[in-house]
Amino acid sequence: MKIAMNSLSGRIIQALARIYLACFVYVFMEWLFFVTKPSILSYYTVAEKASVIFLSPLLIFTSLLPIVLLFFALDEWLIKKEKLQLVRALPVFIYVSTLFLLAENFSNTLFGLYSGSFQGPGRYVYLAIFIVLIVVLFRKSSGEKEGGTSMSLFSTAPIMSTVCLLVGIVFAITGRSDNSAGPISTDLGSDSNLPNILILSSDGINRRNMSAYGYERDTTPFIKSLMEHSLVSDNHFSNSSYTGASVISLLTGKLPATTGVVYQPDGLRGVDAYEHLPGILQKVGYTNADISVRYYADALDMNMLESFQVANDHSRINNIFTELYSPLFSMYSEQSVFLKQSLDRISSRLLHIAGIKDFTDVYEMVTAEKLGISLSIDDSRIQQLYDFMEENREPYFVHLHLLGTHGPRFSPVDPLYSQGQQQTENHMRDFYDDAIRDYDNYVSEIYSFLEEKGTLENTLIIINSDHSRNPNVGLPVPLIMKFPDNQYSGVIEASTQRIDLAPTILDYLGITKPEWMEGRSLLVPDEDPGLIFAYAPLSIDYISGVGWTVTDPKPPFYTLNNVFVMNCQRIYQLKISQHTFTNRAISGYSNPCSKDELLSKSEIAKALLTHLIERDYEILSLAWLADLVPDLDDYFSISRGANIEKYFSKSTATVTGDILYLPAVEYQQGLYAAVLSKNDTGDFVIVDLQTPLNTDNIFRFDKATGSLLLNQSDVDGETRNLRLSLISTNPAVFRLPIAE
Ligand SMILES: [Zn+2]
Repeated sequence: MKIAMNSLSGRIIQALARIYLACFVYVFMEWLFFVTKPSILSYYTVAEKASVIFLSPLLIFTSLLPIVLLFFALDEWLIKKEKLQLVRALPVFIYVSTLFLLAENFSNTLFGLYSGSFQGPGRYVYLAIFIVLIVVLFRKSSGEKEGGTSMSLFSTAPIMSTVCLLVGIVFAITGRSDNSAGPISTDLGSDSNLPNILILSSDGINRRNMSAYGYERDTTPFIKSLMEHSLVSDNHFSNSSYTGASVISLLTGKLPATTGVVYQPDGLRGVDAYEHLPGILQKVGYTNADISVRYYADALDMNMLESFQVANDHSRINNIFTELYSPLFSMYSEQSVFLKQSLDRISSRLLHIAGIKDFTDVYEMVTAEKLGISLSIDDSRIQQLYDFMEENREPYFVHLHLLGTHGPRFSPVDPLYSQGQQQTENHMRDFYDDAIRDYDNYVSEIYSFLEEKGTLENTLIIINSDHSRNPNVGLPVPLIMKFPDNQYSGVIEASTQRIDLAPTILDYLGITKPEWMEGRSLLVPDEDPGLIFAYAPLSIDYISGVGWTVTDPKPPFYTLNNVFVMNCQRIYQLKISQHTFTNRAISGYSNPCSKDELLSKSEIAKALLTHLIERDYEILSLAWLADLVPDLDDYFSISRGANIEKYFSKSTATVTGDILYLPAVEYQQGLYAAVLSKNDTGDFVIVDLQTPLNTDNIFRFDKATGSLLLNQSDVDGETRNLRLSLISTNPAVFRLPIAE
């Protein structure tokens, strides 16, 4: 009896070790894929990346334990002495999944082919190969003797997995995430009849192409009919020219520069992942649905945690681990973003090849669209909305984001202006106008649906768009809010922005706006809304297997390159890497300020610098704005006070007289140095922060003194190290000492 028990415990340890090692191998291969591409890991420090490798297997393993125990029970008491052991199948399944993803990565990169390319029976070839591999590997693992001498992954499992497990436990103890969004305060009674909230957004709609806003073509007859009893913003702007950042700003009430979500591969991190409107609404009893498009507009994909109960095709089966073990995953929310994305990669592919659920590669869809193949999938989104409203109890909050108006090519359901025409160019007006007509029809249909359902009178309907056409931020987009009982109506002429929607909804519900929300309630009249900020990346590229992304997000600005500032009818655009700061009039602005009211270019530049400094951006590279900001010096000292000390630590920087020894700094993932360039007078001006510090470059990092030295050839052709002296901080200008 005792011997049998020993043998059982030995088998248990052996089997657990194999499963653990399989989890580790899976995570490691996926980690390699993520870390070599633009991904959420691009923002992680070396230590954070390491914690992801070692903690993720522990998370999968812990989640798998109930299945493991069940399989043990079946093996020991049902199958007994038979050779077949279910528990051996688990690591085999994980290894084959790993191989499958590897093959997908390679064939996608090399040939642009992957399982999702086969929407027909071709997918079953993948399934067959997958099953054959499982059978072969399973037989191989069953054929091994316990504790045999073979050096395969199976027999060396105990030692390797113990090491990985121990390191994982260390990270688990030290790496718990802080995930509190803070309490909310409300005036809600316990039996308050909360209204449903429907945000009916469609992609890239210019206000000026809507008859509701006076367009000569009657593109939006239904929306026009709502205007009289709605609160309408005449000059409404998005905070981003791209969908994802715009959606996050809508749902959080925070600016993209505050959350750092500007473009892929950005995602919400830290407490930002928990601070959002749907989270607050859920706490007061709402059921939330996000009906949009995966990856580019999907809040969950951008790591908005504890937000939507129903979200696109994040079905329960798709996220079986993350759904079932969400408390565990949220304990390590920072590390588990990677794991969620990876598990989504494998589960969506397996469901596809098994013929259970078609894999929609949104990345490819958007590419195909670029090539001129339009997508018309809004019907299914409307159906999802109806299904959701039928199946869930009120009150509900829905973020619906339609794509028919996205472009650059359109496929109008019911062409009127474009009838009989060929779509020979991108963004053809007749087609665009027809797509807007479709949107108007959808809004009308939804309205009738609510009427029939008897919930119309208890529903707040918001008509909005994520950015203007093409995509752009410099043109007004629609904002029409139809409150229950026509409670608020009229036209807001002052500028409004997308981050105002969340505070407005909270104000309407009687929920106090949390401190972290940046927008303002539009229910409170305010003739001076201040400046409106919006953002965009430098450029985006398509990477096979990754999608549209910023390819090399680097500090200090990462994906951020364009900062727009809107001051009444003028829009300013700072291009960070191009060193330009331009402005133009906003076309169609309906409530222009007088000349006296408008801020000067210099005032805008100052506001912009302050704005970036407040959001922890390092602004040294904006020294070229000195012409506009005579007291730029002050801004740098603010910036230093707020940020640079963290990086250019005063403990290692030394100042002797007017000579400043700049240290090279550890910042994010590398060693950094200020980039200096010689100006006309032979002085050196800081123009950028550069990484990595290159010893062959003009800089040298002196480890002994912690100083930054400049390698400069003197007249004799010898290279000497010269210390730089600071002659001005306005901008930061350095001069070589007259005598060494
Ligand atoms: Zn968009």
